[in-house]
Amino acid sequence: MSIAKRRNITPNFDARLLTEANNLCPFCGKRLLGEKTGQSVKLYEIAHIYPHSPTSEQLVALENVPKYNDAESFENLIALCQDCHTKQDFHTTAEDYMQLYNLKQKIMGESKAMDSASNVPIETQIGDILQKLKSVDTTLISPLSYTPVAVEQKIGQENSLLREKVKAFVVQYFPFVQDMFGQLDGIGKQKFDKIATEVKLCFQSMEEQGLSQEAVFDGIVKWIKSKTQSQYGIACEIIVAFFIQNCEVFDEITK
Ligand SMILES: [Zn+2]
Repeated sequence: MSIAKRRNITPNFDARLLTEANNLCPFCGKRLLGEKTGQSVKLYEIAHIYPHSPTSEQLVALENVPKYNDAESFENLIALCQDCHTKQDFHTTAEDYMQLYNLKQKIMGESKAMDSASNVPIETQIGDILQKLKSVDTTLISPLSYTPVAVEQKIGQENSLLREKVKAFVVQYFPFVQDMFGQLDGIGKQKFDKIATEVKLCFQSMEEQGLSQEAVFDGIVKWIKSKTQSQYGIACEIIVAFFIQNCEVFDEITK
């Protein structure tokens, strides 16, 4: 059957699925986002692990495999490069199916380990953090509450991965975060500017210490997490990506 136009995936799954996969195809390692004249280009497709509309052969072959009831659930979806999606979509054996199923279990487990709050919808997490960020006392610039050196040691990723991650977040969530900021009670432009200034100061103080962009990114995420006492790591990353795009942080990275 045609793999292209059979349904609309809930759009908000895309960024989560990309994050889960670290923006790389879990099969072959190819990048899932490209760049063309400064714009992000989608190089991925969202695949169903258990087929959305199984053929009669698939129904028989996959009768006894473990599967999720809802074919459109997050657990049954995976972001793949276009080539791997084309290949896997015609699988009819339980073995092929299990390969994909296990791959999903693996990356889902890794990503859950990273973010224990993954059962809360990401939009709710973002809203929660922005609410708290609103109440942060911006009249006091508090010292950073972590050791930058330790952060630096924890970062092992290449710069390009950070770039891909930030892009994926911006593509998916920038308008949402912007709207959320606009909807916060009594947040006015002045308050927004104060929060943005805080983020910028946080960034500058880390940059002055000669930290890498990854370390700075991680540092600002931790800073927002501690300021808002939030456990929502990915939502904090999305908010930092928002500020990056909004030119408070690394203005060269996404231009
Ligand atoms: Zn691939």
